[in-house]
Order: sequence, then structure tokens, then C-alpha cells
Amino acid sequence: MEPRIIRAGDRETKIAPANNFVGQVLHESVFAPENPSRLRVSRVTFTPGGRTNWHTHAVGQILYVLSGSGRYQLEGHPVEEINAGDTVIIPPDARHWHGAAPDSMMCHLALSESDDQGNAAEWLEPVSDDDFTQEPA
Ligand code: MN
Repeated sequence: MEPRIIRAGDRETKIAPANNFVGQVLHESVFAPENPSRLRVSRVTFTPGGRTNWHTHAVGQILYVLSGSGRYQLEGHPVEEINAGDTVIIPPDARHWHGAAPDSMMCHLALSESDDQGNAAEWLEPVSDDDFTQEPA
């Protein structure tokens, strides 16, 4: 882990892969794991209707909503609205998804750690439109 400042303009923004996301989603790596840290920090911007597939995190995940209004669902629980300033705590191995609202963008920081095998997420099936458009609790 080298001491340095990664300048704002030096990070690449990529389109999040269509096999793990629905809709237009932009991914910026804020920090990728460097030994001995296992922490990954990503800034993810979901355009309206954009969301992750269902997925799990081996060591859990923390989301911090930077702007906009979005949706989050833990399997077996109602869909929740999440807004700028909210922190979402997702336990290890819990099936869930997160994304924008149908009519609003949402940008969050995602913080997760890798397990001993270097895995931070396991990706599953897309979130159906029926699941996505449920009225939030
Ligand atoms: Mn997640």
C-alpha cells in the first residue's frame, strides 16, 4: 500500500457490466484492495430504473447514499426507499439488490471487503420488473 493521493480526474469511470446490472449504471473505483487491506470502495451511479442483480457479499457491504433517491431490498423483506445521507448495512451472505428509483437517479459509495479467496460479491439473477416496481415500505 503506497502512500499517495489518487486525484479526482485520474480515476476511470466504466459502464457496469450488463451481466450483473440492469439499465445504465456507471462504476468508478475509488479504492481497489491493496495488501494488507481488503477494502474496496466504489462510487456507483444508477440512472432511473437501473439496479444491481440479486447478489451476496461474503463479508457484507456498507452503502452510503451520496445523492438522489433509490431502492434497496433484502430478500424476504419489503423494498425500502433510500435517500442521500442514508447508510445501509448488509450482512454477509444476505441476498439483496440496490439501485435507483424508477423515476430518479441514485449515487452511492459501496464499501466491501474480500474474503480469504479474494471474493467480495457473488452475482445472481436479475431483479424482475415486478420486484423492482413494488411500492417501498
Ligand atoms: Mn450489494
